[in-house]
Amino acid sequence: MRGLCLLLLVAVATAERLFTGDQVFRVNVQSEEQLRLLQSLETQEEWEVDFWLHPASAEQPVDIRVPLPSVNPVMEYLDTHSLTYTVIIDNLQDLLDQEKAEMELNRMKERSTRSFNFGAYHTLETIYSWMDTLVAQYSHLVTKQEIGRTYENRPMYVLKFSTGGSRRPAIWLDTGIHSREWVSPATGVWTANKIATDYGTDPSLTSLLDTMDIYLLVLANPDGYAYTHSNDRMWRKTRSRNSGSMCRGVDPNRNWDAAFASGGASKNPCSDSYHGPWAHSEVEVKNVVNLIKSHGNFKSFISVHAYSQLLMYPYGYSCGNIPHKSELDTLGRAAVQKLTSLYGTRYRVGSICNIIYQASGSSIDWSYNLGIKYSFAFELRDTGRYGFILPANQIIPTASETWLALKHMMEYVHDHPY
Ligand SMILES: [Zn+2]
Repeated sequence: MRGLCLLLLVAVATAERLFTGDQVFRVNVQSEEQLRLLQSLETQEEWEVDFWLHPASAEQPVDIRVPLPSVNPVMEYLDTHSLTYTVIIDNLQDLLDQEKAEMELNRMKERSTRSFNFGAYHTLETIYSWMDTLVAQYSHLVTKQEIGRTYENRPMYVLKFSTGGSRRPAIWLDTGIHSREWVSPATGVWTANKIATDYGTDPSLTSLLDTMDIYLLVLANPDGYAYTHSNDRMWRKTRSRNSGSMCRGVDPNRNWDAAFASGGASKNPCSDSYHGPWAHSEVEVKNVVNLIKSHGNFKSFISVHAYSQLLMYPYGYSCGNIPHKSELDTLGRAAVQKLTSLYGTRYRVGSICNIIYQASGSSIDWSYNLGIKYSFAFELRDTGRYGFILPANQIIPTASETWLALKHMMEYVHDHPY
């Protein structure tokens, strides 16, 4: 009996969080009044709703994951206040089961063919071992550097693409800082392979790499990413313990030293946008800060998120214009035009604060204030049909179109030394 209890306890302790019957609502916002009603829903803790897209302005829809027991009360709330909505996902667990089954199928296929499928989602272990394959195959161009360890003591690896020289002007790319945004690191993996395979055949990439380096951090939040595979697919934050709270984790994109802990971040450790106890409290953030600062010659800093299809520049913490607004806006629009040319995917361009919402402590505000002029953030596909559960068959199309934008931006940075 005792053995059985122990077994049950272990099962419960390691059980994966289920989202059976959870629905995702897309709510249309038509007035400031409705915006405020949704914002108050966001601070209400009883229904445990999870905002996939936060209420930002009266023109933009809001996506909310509603746990099964709260579906009826939330519907009533919306109806009472004449907020119109559609159900975009009617049982989240169905999508997650499908995603898991596809991953398992792919794992078996990769094992039997001894190959790596860029059009599939992978675990941290698989991504890390793929990195070794890439480095072995393209050792003249790619190295893997450990920039430090995570809170749970996982190594953080940056891929460095370099043809020589010391501390050449460099471009920074990171993916996966928010762990549930899986298409971001999947795009990072594809992109690393693209850079390696196209060097020497793509003339503009080749000339860029003859004078500049590219650093790519594929898993910027390894603990969170591992946790999305093992326990909770919807996990966004780091996994650090918060003193005085049962809730774990800090939003690693509210933790940077850029108007830290001001508007657009939460002081509640249970919130998904909790800014943390102090700037750079998260070792994952600190490791990147240390590398960028000690290197001292980064010209561009690009951070990749999902979803919404946006290309953004600073600031997040303020809606005022940055000094280089017009240059960054023009560059962003040209980059998006390249992206759209492949499959017609539409992106919007603007500052974080103006295009989504105020968000303090974000990485690109920090990098811009450090003097890295070409600081950008992407929000990849889609616009809410699948949200964070983007089907794997969209990974390669997403990465391919994004590459056209990235390449345009990198070429521009290469041609405009400062
Ligand atoms: Zn994100």
